[in-house]
Amino acid sequence: MSDKVRLQTTPATITETGDAWILHLPRFGEEGTHFHSYGLLTPYFKGLKEGRLLGTRCVCPECPISRGDGELWLPPRADCPDCHQPMVWEEVEKPEGYVYAYTYVERGGTGLEIECPYYQIDVKLDGVASIVKSYLLDRKPIKIGDRVRARFRTGSEATHTCLDLCWELA
Ligand SMILES: [Zn+2]
Repeated sequence: MSDKVRLQTTPATITETGDAWILHLPRFGEEGTHFHSYGLLTPYFKGLKEGRLLGTRCVCPECPISRGDGELWLPPRADCPDCHQPMVWEEVEKPEGYVYAYTYVERGGTGLEIECPYYQIDVKLDGVASIVKSYLLDRKPIKIGDRVRARFRTGSEATHTCLDLCWELA
C-alpha cells in the first residue's frame, strides 16, 4: 500500500455562468451526472484550482459582531450571518495549522472518492477563526496537535470539488 492517499474520482467538469461555476459530476455515469452551482462560493473553488486558499471576512462597520474587522472564516461564507452583508474574500497567507481532531477511516461508504485507509482531519489554521475538515495525504500515525500544511490539486489534477484541498504533515 502506498504511503500517500490517492483519490478514486471520476473527473468533473465545469461550465461558467457569469461569475459562478456549475459543476458537472458524473458520479453515477453519464446518466447520473449531478449538476450544482457553486454560486457565490465560486471564488473558493477557483482559488483551490490555483493552489490558493481563500476565506471570507466581514468588514461592514455597522456589523454588531465584527464592527468592520471580522475574523477570517473557512469554509467561506458569502454573506455575514450577523449583519447579512457580503463578506470580502481574502487569501490565507500561510495555509498551515495543526490537527484539532481526526478520524481514521478504514472503510468508506458508497461514493467515497478517497482511497481507504486515510485520516479525516479537522485543521485549526493559523489566523483563521473556524476549523476546516479534509483528508490527510500521509498514512503515518498522527496525534492531535501535529502540524500540517495545505496541499492543492491543481491544473489537470483538479477535481473542482472540495477534494482539491488536502493536508500533509509539516
Ligand atoms: Zn457582519
